Amino acid sequence: MILAKLVFECFEDTTMTKVETAINGLITELKYNGQIIGQEFPTLLKDGYFITQVLCPEEESLAFTNHNQAVKKAVERLTDVGVLQPKITVLGQELHSDSTDPHHTPSWQILYTSYIQTCSPIRCGDHFAPIPLYRLPALANGCYKQLINWQQDWQACDQLQMNGRTNEFESLAQLGTIDSRLGQQSRQLCQRIEAQSGVPTYYYLYRVGGESLTKEQQRRCPSCDGDWAVLESIHQVLDFKCDDCRLVSNLSWDYK
Ligand SMILES: [Zn+2]
Ligand SMILES: [Zn+2]
Repeated sequence: MILAKLVFECFEDTTMTKVETAINGLITELKYNGQIIGQEFPTLLKDGYFITQVLCPEEESLAFTNHNQAVKKAVERLTDVGVLQPKITVLGQELHSDSTDPHHTPSWQILYTSYIQTCSPIRCGDHFAPIPLYRLPALANGCYKQLINWQQDWQACDQLQMNGRTNEFESLAQLGTIDSRLGQQSRQLCQRIEAQSGVPTYYYLYRVGGESLTKEQQRRCPSCDGDWAVLESIHQVLDFKCDDCRLVSNLSWDYK
């Protein structure tokens, strides 16, 4: 991921509220278009300039060619309230986040996230690297809001089960079963992404617990009851893969 700085300059008299609303509008649309990542976008007002720090999948994420209609409109709204288009400065590679998938057509991809992840929820099956959402066909209303919201839901459940203080088992059931509400939504999302992108899209089922290593190794596909164990772990994470049901999973983290 790349850390970048957006500097907004007012070209005529305006009000703080108008500028803040317009900047927030642009930030929101950039987020739903996958051009910036995360939830927190610190903004400061210094020497008459508004400065916002953002995390982007790649250096060219904020290029005009990646803008969707909503982002273009949000940029126009800036002009309406007397603010110039932001000047973008790439600060460099962020150390704690995953590297973005290189430009190519993946042979398969995975809907995958975790509570600590700050990146796209779609990963390339070949490299296990996050794919910037704007490289995919838009999901609905020309953006990826549904995917961003899905990621937040998944991460919220993951956070609860990791902390183990409240609703741990309910959250685990959401993450690890196909008939949970989240499981159903996830598979529907995968089907739509696959239909639009033409790339086989798998859903990752989280697995923890279990009675024994042997029993866990013999786990069957929860959808078709087929044999779905892979000979060699994929990217050190995925030990089960059903091509018919578009599902992947890990050997229970208790035995890995
Ligand atoms: Zn790849
Ligand atoms: Zn299956």
